[in-house]
Amino acid sequence: MTIQVPVVEQIMSANDQLAAANRARLDGAGVFALNMMASPGAGKTSLITRTVEALQGELRIGAVDGDIATTIDADRIAALGVPTVQINTGGACHLDAAMLQNALAQLSLKELDLLIIENVGNLVCPATFRLGEHRNVLIASVPEGDDKPYKYPVMYRGVDALVLNKIDVLQAFDFDIDYFRQGVEPLNPGLAFFPLSCKTGEGLDAWLEWLRREIIERRRNEAKQHVSGNSG
Ligand code: MG
Ligand code: ZN
Repeated sequence: MTIQVPVVEQIMSANDQLAAANRARLDGAGVFALNMMASPGAGKTSLITRTVEALQGELRIGAVDGDIATTIDADRIAALGVPTVQINTGGACHLDAAMLQNALAQLSLKELDLLIIENVGNLVCPATFRLGEHRNVLIASVPEGDDKPYKYPVMYRGVDALVLNKIDVLQAFDFDIDYFRQGVEPLNPGLAFFPLSCKTGEGLDAWLEWLRREIIERRRNEAKQHVSGNSG
């Protein structure tokens, strides 16, 4: 049993090295990458299609869609006219950096501003495999119940923004937003939180504003690094 931990650590660090290489490649091409994680059915594909529809007039967007078996979600996103690469994980329950590396090779990164990655629907291991993304987003949804931060703390700890989808059915599911947020706060203090409904469109604007700000801030930091790099 004692050798198990080092083996896992080696796999993780190999993944982290590849993730860093992906990140350098994305940065070199000026692409901001978003990793979307959620349990199955929370609305990852719906939020991605809503986001693409809202932003495709101002940003050049591409998508990578991880799924265990089908191309249903990738087809929905590609139907919006954005370059989409499907990663069929062949049963694996998360994306890893090697899978993203393969997907990046199939995209013209220089022609993109934003890459949206749909991870495999799973609330456990996607949180522990970095891909090279700039920001991680967790999409929770009302029908899953308000106790999920208490049951899946690792997932809530490692993300940069939290979306609560399907707020149009809050009443029907007796979902207590205060209890939900109280569970999140100690895990990820001050986490950006966006209750919304992909169905009705309520709350989407705040989410889109956050994403715009993150992209602008990233560009500013990149520009600063170039300036300090040149003068030093
Ligand atoms: Mg999906
Ligand atoms: Zn997994």
